Amino acid sequence: MTAPSSSEAPRVVVVGAGLTGLVVAYRLAARGAAVVLVERDARTGGQIHTVREAGVVVELGAEGFVARSESVPRLCRDLGIESELIDQATTLTYALEGSELVELAPGEAAKILGFQVPREELGRGIRSMRLGMGQLIETLSASIGGRVSRRHDEVRRLSPSSEGVVVELGSGAQLTAAAVVVATPASRATQLVADAAGGAAAGLGQGALLSNASATLLYDASQLGRPLNGSGFIVPARAQTSGFRACSFVTLKFNRPVPDGTVLLRAFFRPTEEDLVGRDIPGWIDLAVASVSGPLHLSGPPRRAWASMWPNALPVYDEGYREAVARAEAALEPHGIFLAGSHFHGAGIDAAVVSAEAVEGRISSRLGLEPPAPR
Ligand SMILES: Cc1cc2nc3c(=O)[nH]c(=O)nc-3n(C[C@H](O)[C@H](O)[C@H](O)COP(=O)(O)OP(=O)(O)OC[C@H]3O[C@@H](n4cnc5c(N)ncnc54)[C@H](O)[C@@H]3O)c2cc1C
Repeated sequence: MTAPSSSEAPRVVVVGAGLTGLVVAYRLAARGAAVVLVERDARTGGQIHTVREAGVVVELGAEGFVARSESVPRLCRDLGIESELIDQATTLTYALEGSELVELAPGEAAKILGFQVPREELGRGIRSMRLGMGQLIETLSASIGGRVSRRHDEVRRLSPSSEGVVVELGSGAQLTAAAVVVATPASRATQLVADAAGGAAAGLGQGALLSNASATLLYDASQLGRPLNGSGFIVPARAQTSGFRACSFVTLKFNRPVPDGTVLLRAFFRPTEEDLVGRDIPGWIDLAVASVSGPLHLSGPPRRAWASMWPNALPVYDEGYREAVARAEAALEPHGIFLAGSHFHGAGIDAAVVSAEAVEGRISSRLGLEPPAPR
């Protein structure tokens, strides 16, 4: 077993290097904690995954955050990348009615798609970053570089002991920490904390989850049989086939540069259980092409295409789930184990950052950490 840090600084282990884990690590390291950030995947960023290829920014996961967010711009300011924030260029949205695109009133699209956003948020659009949401992940990663110890490993179990929380890793190594932050999906968290919380964490693994699949398609503008206008179109539930729910006109939505004479589109799907098993990445691309070609009068295949699948990735925040989270937290926090992120505290990127910063505050007061030095 590795002993706790011999320096004065208390050790905090953060499980998961998605946005939440990175923000907790960044804020705690700034307060002088000895942070170990453990990520199972080779890639950092979790549900934020940006690729930049063929001269375009492609989001395989989240594409932006709610316009009302204060926490994300503040984080960007602290990281020195506030000038990289971009606004949605247009919020004009259409609904597909038969073969026609019919303009919607502001806010209608999000309401029809059932987005988990407050009423006053409807119609305000989202914000993103010039190089895609991955730019936030890359900047956080770079800025914790010398200050946080990173491990590519899987956390298997957390067990309270008289010396702190014992963190068992898939590689067989063990760490002991004064506090542990669990910033993983809830189904994984339930397993990790089974010892520490007993039955109190069982409900975390029982919340309803939604899946997502999407495909991004790069076309020559000359392939379009109608002019593109607005941020995209949605498909009302009664008219949806094969789970096709929306298409973003990415090129117009964010005003990012694309190669001359091209347009970038992203088609979104709500997959069924059978789709998740039976349809592979080329299958999602084919389905996306078939789904958008009719409404946009497209001729021929796209120049380039990308797709991603996120099975059971998005929690549904009903009253029962919120109570399950509160029960688990009440059992875990006395041991120094904290749940953080949008898998526990609300949908999306803004909620992830708000949760990460709230948990960082609770850990800092528990461990008596100093406020960060002024910049
Ligand atoms: C397709 C898609 C589109 C989205 N679009 C938007 C959007 O436009 N706007 C918005 O606000 N939100 C959006 N979201 C949601 C948003 O991306 C998430 O809420 C947010 O990124 C979650 O961050 P997180 O760090 O809390 O969790 P995650 O990103 O899920 O990160 C959890 C991390 O924990 C790691 N992990 C899991 N188990 C272990 C273990 N045992 N040991 C070590 N590491 C482990 C995982 O590998 C992962 O890296 C979208 C999500 C998806 C899937």
